[in-house]
Amino acid sequence: IYGPKRRNSKGVNLNIWSQYQPLMDAMAEFMDKEYHAKPLLGVKVADDEAQRHEVRSPYDTRQRVGSVQWTTREQAEQAVEIAWSAFPRWRDTPAEERAQILERFADSMEAHTAELMTLCSREGGKLLTDGIDEIREAVDFCRYYANRARDLFGETAVLPGPTGESNELMMSGKGVFACISPWNFPVAIFCGQMVAAAVSGNSVLAKPAEQTSLIAHRVVELLHEAGMPRDVVQLLPGDGPTVGSVLSSDPRITGVAFTGSTDTAHIINRALAARENAPLPALIAETGGLNAMIVDSTALPEQVVVDVVRSSFQSAGQRCSALRILYLQEDVADRVIEILKGAMEELSIGDPRHLGTDVGPVIDEEARQNLQAYIDRLKGEDRLVGETPLDPEQTAHGIFIAPTAFEVSGIEAMESEQFGPILHIARYKAADIDKVIDSINAKGYGLTFGVHSRNDSFAKAVGEKVRAGNVYINRNIIGAVVGVQPFGGQGFSGTGPKAGGPHYLLSFATEKTRTNNT
Ligand code: GLU
Repeated sequence: IYGPKRRNSKGVNLNIWSQYQPLMDAMAEFMDKEYHAKPLLGVKVADDEAQRHEVRSPYDTRQRVGSVQWTTREQAEQAVEIAWSAFPRWRDTPAEERAQILERFADSMEAHTAELMTLCSREGGKLLTDGIDEIREAVDFCRYYANRARDLFGETAVLPGPTGESNELMMSGKGVFACISPWNFPVAIFCGQMVAAAVSGNSVLAKPAEQTSLIAHRVVELLHEAGMPRDVVQLLPGDGPTVGSVLSSDPRITGVAFTGSTDTAHIINRALAARENAPLPALIAETGGLNAMIVDSTALPEQVVVDVVRSSFQSAGQRCSALRILYLQEDVADRVIEILKGAMEELSIGDPRHLGTDVGPVIDEEARQNLQAYIDRLKGEDRLVGETPLDPEQTAHGIFIAPTAFEVSGIEAMESEQFGPILHIARYKAADIDKVIDSINAKGYGLTFGVHSRNDSFAKAVGEKVRAGNVYINRNIIGAVVGVQPFGGQGFSGTGPKAGGPHYLLSFATEKTRTNNT
């Protein structure tokens, strides 16, 4: 009953020539285009050369994508003022009207698939297939939340009146929401937060990740063209210390929707709590994970490896849902590791725009250095199990990290999430399964979890006991689908509610009960 009333977006099938070829032709138009972005506020923003930052492609840093003008502190403060003034009118705009804007925006994103995919590759380093999924998910969020908004905000619920009074329950927007989004889903998560807040009747200040500001800018242009008022959704590209600190310290910010690291979520939480004379805020945080998969001796090793490679290395491991530690029951460990090593040697790393590429670049040089330092440390401890060879011809000008697997004692040996294509493997004895589950839970995260077993009751029992927001049995653990696998974690992994799920909009809303004794 909670499903989207329309089907999920179909996207583009690259295996069908009649879909692939027109897409490639359409993408060619945007391959060399220079993009220039600046803050999109409810008022005109003057050009400011001092705030301009150049954008280059992570797969080839010689290629310029364009430039982005960052938001100044004063502009961010002005944007809060504009959002605050826009709120009452927008809150009282019929939910149907708000929903229709999202649906027009979804149609427009589908129509601009080629351009958005090209930007996802050029600015975000995304594979073509990841780019398609990204736009499908953004489109799905719009259509799903539009329908949920009709149900939740479109009608006043009539409640029982046992004493003869009439009672009604109404929902409306809360106020001004700051939406702080990550670079790893620069269209999907960026849109998901923004449209959820807006369709619920809030005005929105969207702060995209610095690394993917051009994509965000193009997406908000399409949103405005679809009818979203410019003072209701404003775009504030820029850095966390400047824009983020204004957004988390202003008392007029009613809520923050954040996706990113657990540490940053704590910083935002503390800043919100430190405000004086501010209403208690809503914080919706989707953060990191130390996601595990348990494989018992009944599992099919070949299937396990297919799902592990996808879960750990697709999108260069830059998903908060990605698999970080694989537990192999000792009877199957050698066999799975042998097949996995072979599969890793065959992966091709390079230009994300080529169909044959399996793993693209990581997002920037800072990320590369941190990941490489971690890899070097574990190699120094003699823990290497397997790695993909880097072909210098394919990777010389970009920012690449080879998929790498290490053997460790267990999750307790892992300090923090490494946001890249790094897999840890631990062996366990069948008799120790409860200890394994306890150590996963003790770590305190709870995002995704996988189990591979042909013993149905084992798989279900393990899935029950492990604390995780999304449990996947006998498949990969990434790529949650809107309305089908609502996504989000618990503990250090997030506050909930789940994105793409029936309850998500509730956190962006406030409720009023009206009792009438006339
Ligand atoms: N929803 C995405 C997935 O299921 C992950 C989101 C994220 O990485 O933040 O793979």
